[in-house]
Amino acid sequence: MESPLNWQRDSNGYRVQPIRPVASASNTILGNLTGFRIVPGGGRAIVYRPRLDRLFVQFANVSTMTELLKFVNRYGLLTRTWDERHRGENVELALDSAQNMKRLVDSLTGGSIPKLSEPGVVARLEVVLSTNGLQFRAPNLLSALWLHAGTAAAGGSQLRQCAYPACRKVFEVGPNSRPRRRGDAKYCCHQHQERHKSLKRSLP
Ligand SMILES: [Zn+2]
Repeated sequence: MESPLNWQRDSNGYRVQPIRPVASASNTILGNLTGFRIVPGGGRAIVYRPRLDRLFVQFANVSTMTELLKFVNRYGLLTRTWDERHRGENVELALDSAQNMKRLVDSLTGGSIPKLSEPGVVARLEVVLSTNGLQFRAPNLLSALWLHAGTAAAGGSQLRQCAYPACRKVFEVGPNSRPRRRGDAKYCCHQHQERHKSLKRSLP
């Protein structure tokens, strides 16, 4: 399945900022009072087409604000278009979504199928009839990630968690995996296989 998404990231990168309360004229406090948001550095838009195929696996491995910032620096904001970018990405909501993605990915590694709700994420999904059959268009990066994760789940992708205890990252195995990993692979990379071996050797 193809999922065309032209997305943007800021040429100056992104930074984390505390969310400040917004007071209206009547002095009512609006919005989320606590937490952080990720805002763009005010550069120009680098328009690009994300390689979405396995990006949801990377997103599922995001569990801290630092990891989220790294992801956003690489791929842009998750839900904000270039016009909306000044409102930034709410860190708490984005990490919730990454955690939900992790639960879906865990189900693909052999766990039970979770019941997830991602409010608003695919609400504006467009289905376009083209010469290649049905095409799905996502309004933003987060929706596109969910679209691909859902397709992988429906298509029977096989995922596994790295057996190296310090890693535990999720990776894909089997004939369609990229980079290609054997169906019985236990580690995300050769390095972690070696490290785990030497770790085992050093234990009494
Ligand atoms: Zn690993």
